[in-house]
Amino acid sequence: MFVPRSLKIKRNANDDGKSCVAKIIKPDPEDLQLDKSRDVPVDALVTEAATTDRHVSESCPFPSPGGQLAEVHSVSPEQGAKDNYPSEEPVKSFSKTQRWAEPGEPVCVVCGRYGEYICDKTDEDVCSLECKAKHLQVKEKEEKSKLSNPQKADSEPESPLNASYVYKEHPFILNLQEDQIENLKQQLGILVQGQEVTRPIIDFEHCSLPEVLNHNLKKSGYEVPTPIQMQMIPVGLLGRDILASADTGSGKTAAFLLPVIMRALFESKTPSALILTPTRELAIQIERQAKELMSGLPRMKTVLLVGGLPLPPQLYRLQQHVKVIIATPGRLLDIIKQSSVELCGVKIVVVDEDKKLFKPPVLVFVDCKLGADLLSEAVEKITGLKSISIHSEKSQIERKNILKGLLEGDYEVVVSTGVLGRGLDLISVRLVVNFDMPSSMDEYVHQIGRVGRLGQNGTAITFINNNSKRLFWDIAKRVKPTGSILPPQLLNSPYLHDQKRKEQQKDKQTQNDLVTGANLMDIIRKHDKSNSQK
Ligand code: AMP
Repeated sequence: MFVPRSLKIKRNANDDGKSCVAKIIKPDPEDLQLDKSRDVPVDALVTEAATTDRHVSESCPFPSPGGQLAEVHSVSPEQGAKDNYPSEEPVKSFSKTQRWAEPGEPVCVVCGRYGEYICDKTDEDVCSLECKAKHLQVKEKEEKSKLSNPQKADSEPESPLNASYVYKEHPFILNLQEDQIENLKQQLGILVQGQEVTRPIIDFEHCSLPEVLNHNLKKSGYEVPTPIQMQMIPVGLLGRDILASADTGSGKTAAFLLPVIMRALFESKTPSALILTPTRELAIQIERQAKELMSGLPRMKTVLLVGGLPLPPQLYRLQQHVKVIIATPGRLLDIIKQSSVELCGVKIVVVDEDKKLFKPPVLVFVDCKLGADLLSEAVEKITGLKSISIHSEKSQIERKNILKGLLEGDYEVVVSTGVLGRGLDLISVRLVVNFDMPSSMDEYVHQIGRVGRLGQNGTAITFINNNSKRLFWDIAKRVKPTGSILPPQLLNSPYLHDQKRKEQQKDKQTQNDLVTGANLMDIIRKHDKSNSQK
């Protein structure tokens, strides 16, 4: 049977594929309630030391395997018959009728075309019934040759998996002296931080991994672990949190993938691992490597959640009891936004961060009611921010509701005339914009006083033009001492200089009018002179 990536299965495992059905373009978001699995906090670091530091921190027990292999999730023919999907298209019969895979899309293990379906018997991606048949033939041949060649069978992945896995240091590693271990680490440039960090392994065999996995490692050309893998894999297998750093190309991917695979393998819940990567290319690369390593392991499907490809097939694939998710943050967020998702035991809900995570609103002051209404509308249209105007023409009830909304974080921008300028301490505002400069300095001070209340920092942005030219010098005098940078247009304005000069003259005059010991005789003489002239 196939599990099409973008459609529901209608056949049981013994079906030949005739009743497979077509793509669902839009899956029900409610289907996206993913199963829980254990939460894995991250806290340790291993590094390959030639260039970097490495820390490995404290140990915690390996995720308890629960004594069970992964659950079997097959859909019975009855159940399949109950499913009724609106748009269906038959499973492709021939490879040549399948299109080629886009970068990042699953690739048929046989022909390399778009791996639209998952073979139920092997969990491998296939493109059509034709390739599924070929794929199973190859698998069958491999089985037969193993049986007829017991020596080879020994080295091939046939031993049944144990029901659980607990990492234990291999006797060879245990028997090494402490100085031998230190010497080894030093020679390989392994630096470690953390408490009671387990010793590095020297060979993959020291991990007692399932034979299938050992086989896959060899098949991928991984004969011996790289230094980062030597230290990181046993620490990861113990379930400890790791922070690791090593050069590019040093084998970090397999170093974290092996413990992830081992954990997912013995975890019955799906999905059980989430690998987040910054780029789509990296995600694709990691999935490819994960698939290589997981090949032949039971119920170890992966899903790639990356942008640039249609969402519905990825959403659908996500629901197919995948064990490992490899995702970029943006696409993962898109998916989580469609529904709350339970991922690795943690319920993830994306709240409307603009609204529910309260941000103090921006308070914008204008000089007229019409201006308030127009600006509020424009702000909402252009920026998408939730905006409201408030002025004296709004009824008391309206104003009360707006204030309530403000306190509850319903608005991000409030455009107000002077009505909110004075005394309103209720609203926590961090930014005031004087879109229109008020007509007096007194009003200005009240308006900018809406920010930074109760000892908090705040910012005021003031727009000025020649309409308020008579206040230029007053503004400069008041704002300059705060260390704010004033625009050169203001500082060089002739109005400002005129006002400054006038003020200085006035000061001088006032100074002259004062009677002091030094000017007393001058004043008397002036007085006498003017009297005698009369
Ligand atoms: P990475 O640093 O994880 O990107 O790995 C770099 C390359 O090294 C990839 O092509 C891996 O497949 C390969 N690689 C990783 N580990 C080993 C190993 N132990 N032996 C040989 N090749 C490896």
